[in-house]
Amino acid sequence: MTKKLSILGSTGSIGRQTLDVVRHLPVEVVALTAGSNVERMAEQCLEFHPKLAVMATEEAAEALKTRLSGQNIRVMHGEAGLLEAATIPEADTVVTAVVGMVGLKPTLAALERGKRIGLANKETMVCAGELVTAAAARFGGEIIPVDSEHSAIFQCLMGCRDRGEVKRLILTCSGGPFFGRTKQELAGMTKADALKHPNWRMGEKITIDCATLMNKGLEVIEAMRLYELPPEKVDVVIHRQSIVHSLVEFVDGAVLAQLGVPDMRIPIQLALTYPNRTVNPAAGLDLLSCGPLSFCAPDPEAFPCLQIALNAARQGGTACPAMNGANEVAVAKYLRGEIGFYDIPRLVQAGMDAVAFVQNPTLEQILEADRVARDAAEQLA
Ligand code: NDP
Ligand code: MG
Repeated sequence: MTKKLSILGSTGSIGRQTLDVVRHLPVEVVALTAGSNVERMAEQCLEFHPKLAVMATEEAAEALKTRLSGQNIRVMHGEAGLLEAATIPEADTVVTAVVGMVGLKPTLAALERGKRIGLANKETMVCAGELVTAAAARFGGEIIPVDSEHSAIFQCLMGCRDRGEVKRLILTCSGGPFFGRTKQELAGMTKADALKHPNWRMGEKITIDCATLMNKGLEVIEAMRLYELPPEKVDVVIHRQSIVHSLVEFVDGAVLAQLGVPDMRIPIQLALTYPNRTVNPAAGLDLLSCGPLSFCAPDPEAFPCLQIALNAARQGGTACPAMNGANEVAVAKYLRGEIGFYDIPRLVQAGMDAVAFVQNPTLEQILEADRVARDAAEQLA
């Protein structure tokens, strides 16, 4: 059970919902980090009084210092600040709610101090899952997933002592805002269309990943790394209602699922209170009013990013960080209106093709694959 908490990315969607959960728990916030949103960080600091507040840039940190004058809060910036927040001795748990590869080094650093990670930052597991789980095992840290599907699987596996009893994991996928659209219709879809997710309110990057289904591809790799299973044991089904958060099928034919309303505060809270459960501010699930629950297969023609990710999952090694890095660049370009919907998989594939494959990469080789793939995707229009 978490007593003292550090949140990396407190001003974002997961970060704010984590603070909402903390308002109802006997948990002290000792460190907060953000990118550029000084205003929101200042408000959070005045409410939660952390010992440390970190902004991405020196300029933002200076603006925050001005807002916090007279408060006893240390302000830092950049990677050094993120690492300080991840390793601050007072925190027993670190929620990693930053978006993208920037979360990798702080996650590893926190695990090397034996801390619990409430893992939202899936890009870290995609790029370096083996290094992350090895660091947890070596230094006695633990990783409790926040991503709703992985939290569901974590819960379904709670009584399972032998991973050999697992036949497969079934990740559910809402299908995103573009479910049922044809390839021709999708080609003209803009950022504004893509940001209208039917069930979840999230940061912009993950919302675009949901529209392309890359998010589900990233989640297949995340699940493989978290639960040490091969890609053929992780399946994806479309489930529009986002009520069944994922399932585990066992070798005897039993299938366990975790259900609940689509509210991230439920998995976030479990990551803090595990192995206990406590009352949550989220609404309960009413089976009589949540509508019929439906399931169908994803459309690989319309959503090529899912297939690209499944290929990377099979290859492993540097294919995963290369895909992730190129995807981060492609999504940023799409959000700036510079490229079209189907340019995203094109840039991702080009980024992957630019990287010389290594099967069991070191951290340096992972960072290099990320850099090369980003550069390649950056140069394409
Ligand atoms: P948001 O974009 O809402 O928030 C991202 C956070 O990271 C913000 O606090 C932002 O700061 C900070 N940040 C952004 N860039 C940097 C940087 N370069 N250096 C330091 N901090 C930075 O994202 P979400 O909360 O939606 O997602 C966070 C992570 O959780 C992602 O990996 C996502 O895939 C995962 N996730 C999210 C879910 C959701 O429901 N939102 C569900 C499952 C997983 P600022 O805003 O101040 O610039
Ligand atoms: Mg998810």
